[in-house]
Amino acid sequence: MSVLDAWQQRLSDARADRQRQHRWRTRQVLARSTLNFAGNDYLGLAHDPRVSEAQAEGARRFGSGAGASHLVSGHLAIHDALEETLARWTGRQRALLFSTGYMANIGVLQALADSHTAIFQDRLNHASLIDGAALSGARSRRFHHRDAMDLENLLGRSESEHKLVVSDGIFSMDGHIADIGALVTVSQRHNAWLMIDDAHGVGILGDDGSGCVGSTWNSTEVPILVGTLGKALGTAGAFVAGDAALIDHLIQFSRSYIYTTAQPPAIAAATLKALEIVQGEPERRAQLNANIAYFRHEALRLGLPLSDSATPIQPLILGDETRTLSWAVQLQQKGIHVGAIRPPTVPNGEARLRITLSARHQRGDIDQLLAALYHCQQKEVLCNRYA
Ligand SMILES: *Cc1c(COP(=O)(O)O)cnc(C)c1O
Repeated sequence: MSVLDAWQQRLSDARADRQRQHRWRTRQVLARSTLNFAGNDYLGLAHDPRVSEAQAEGARRFGSGAGASHLVSGHLAIHDALEETLARWTGRQRALLFSTGYMANIGVLQALADSHTAIFQDRLNHASLIDGAALSGARSRRFHHRDAMDLENLLGRSESEHKLVVSDGIFSMDGHIADIGALVTVSQRHNAWLMIDDAHGVGILGDDGSGCVGSTWNSTEVPILVGTLGKALGTAGAFVAGDAALIDHLIQFSRSYIYTTAQPPAIAAATLKALEIVQGEPERRAQLNANIAYFRHEALRLGLPLSDSATPIQPLILGDETRTLSWAVQLQQKGIHVGAIRPPTVPNGEARLRITLSARHQRGDIDQLLAALYHCQQKEVLCNRYA
């Protein structure tokens, strides 16, 4: 077999494997008319004309790209202004922009941890945190989901010089909120640093929308805060917020910060506008919360398998992968898009529809979704009855 044939074989083996498991992933171009319950645009800011206009104006003023990395010549005044605003909003000394949340997480973990470090992660942490830990060369341990006792046990047994506890703020596939208070207490008791990835909480949690950490927990309690800009803030990119010493260290040592082109300045301009709206229009969060409450109330009444989530992420755990796909396809045929999330993204036997709500949804949209879900459920009942 030639080298090329061996590669072809490898690709086709991997494909056959995935397809045998019915886990081959496909993308779809989303039709404009589709009712979208799969995105993370929780406040509708990705479609706010003021944010779009700020982006257009930013592009006219600063150009369409940064043209270089932050350390070379790509760091502009608009980036600086955004970093300052993010720092102030989250109650931190400094903030640092990254091009994506994925890059922020791998960059922070790689810069902070090495083979003398032990990283303790919640079992359900985002893939970027798992990858960052692997890249850092640190010893990695996983604790049971939201289980501070299990974390305490693992920390107690660790003899590592440096300990780092890492958790999502809102878990992206479950919608659970981390128990930050418990994580702070246990981390401090064991001299561990705490890093919270609040990708889904920033913009929607907290009185001022600054997330589940933001203005609630200070930088002694949560020294490393990561937030993303592509979800509730409706743009793209991410930031790390913390003390000056942390940010200086990242600028020196974080490879995914150093060796990449800076965020386009127009995105920074749009994000500043989005932040202004988040801070000035708390009614958007109120609308989102009203939508969440309405969906949950009605879903419960219809006997849909709701999860225990108070956030815009409202998974319906259907368990079986074929069943989950079938529901998603039926919804699709009615012009409704929801995420069909299957292993390996979630544990085996926990396939689910990942339904997300936004302040942008109208009552009628949510009613359509509920009716379609109820229809899927009733059809199964009938099928089982006559099977
Ligand atoms: C989406 C997400 C990320 C990645 O952020 P991107 O900006 O999309 O790369 C990181 N962590 C969590 C918890 C996320 O949900």
